Order: sequence, then C-alpha cells, then structure tokens
Amino acid sequence: MDYNRRDFLKVSGTGVLGLSLMQLGVDIKPVQAYTATLKTEGAREIVTICPFCSVSCHIIASVRDGKLISTEGDPEYPINEGALCAKGASLLTMTQNEHRLKKPMYRAPGSTKWEEKSWEWTLEQIATRVKKARDKDLLLKNDKGQTVNRLDSMFFIGTSHADNEECALAHQMVRGLGIVHVDHQART
Ligand code: SF4
Repeated sequence: MDYNRRDFLKVSGTGVLGLSLMQLGVDIKPVQAYTATLKTEGAREIVTICPFCSVSCHIIASVRDGKLISTEGDPEYPINEGALCAKGASLLTMTQNEHRLKKPMYRAPGSTKWEEKSWEWTLEQIATRVKKARDKDLLLKNDKGQTVNRLDSMFFIGTSHADNEECALAHQMVRGLGIVHVDHQART
C-alpha cells in the first residue's frame, strides 16, 4: 500500500508508535483518549488555497456538519510546507469574526456615522457615480489629436477573492470604461 506523508504521520502516531510503546509496556490508553478529543475529530479535510495573495499557499480546511471548524497550513504542499503568514493563519477567524461586515456600509460626505445600506441602493450609487465621473472626465483625444479614450480620474483595485475568470471580466469592464490606473491587492 502507498502512504503519503499525512497517512504516514497518522500511522506512525497511532499504530507503529503505539505498537512499539505497548511492546515496551507503556500504557497508551490516555493518548488514545486524547486523540479522540481533538477538535478536528470526525471532520472532513478539504485542501484549499489561501485567497489573500499570489503565493497561493495550500490550506487544509476541516469541515464538520457543514461548518468550517479549523484551517491549517498543508505540510504536503511544497510551496508553504505547512506554514502560513499572519493573513493565512487568521483565515478561520475571518470567517467567524462577529465584526465581519455582511452588508454594505455607507458614510455620507462630511458625516461621522456609518449607515447600513442594501445591495440595490449601493450598486445604484456606484453605477450613478461612475457614469457621472466618466461623462465629466473621459478624454477622447490627446494633445496630438490621437484617440486615447482614457479616464484618468478613476482607479480600480482588484482582490485576491476573485478568481482568474472574474479578474478577466473586471479587467475588460474597467478598460471598457477607459480606466488606465489598475492594480491588485494581492501583488506581493
Ligand atoms: S497571504 Fe500568506 S498564507 Fe496566504 S498565500 Fe499569501 S503568503 Fe500564503
């Protein structure tokens, strides 16, 4: 039978080592009882990718009863070898933190208060303001009379939460608007 590194660790931890200790007369029942209380006991492991930067470290996500209960670095992935930086290590708490925003928040110009808004209201506002800025600032030709169709007054920043296809669509949209200042949050 072929064993990968994780299988080996499981076998060496619960089988071979246990057998050796038992042969030495060591009582391993407390160890067996402890492993049964591990927080990931009975959970399904899913290998996923950290969304926060282009290193794309692998993460083992443990899911039990449809709920994410643990995330840790994947020791079998050669890029991060089980390690995670502070952003990746905080992935679980970011999904469960009570302060996580789930609705758009809006602060009116000059106001000190944030208001909760609906997605409909927010998207309408964004579309209205983008059109207004583009109508005002789109430069059709440069000083030499060459067609440039560029919009210098707007900036677009992408997110590592978007996949390749979403990034491609976003790129086409901003270029279609004439936006030339484009960057990405995950550029490390
Ligand atoms: S944010 Fe950190 S953990 Fe996530 S992929 Fe980048 S280096 Fe890896």
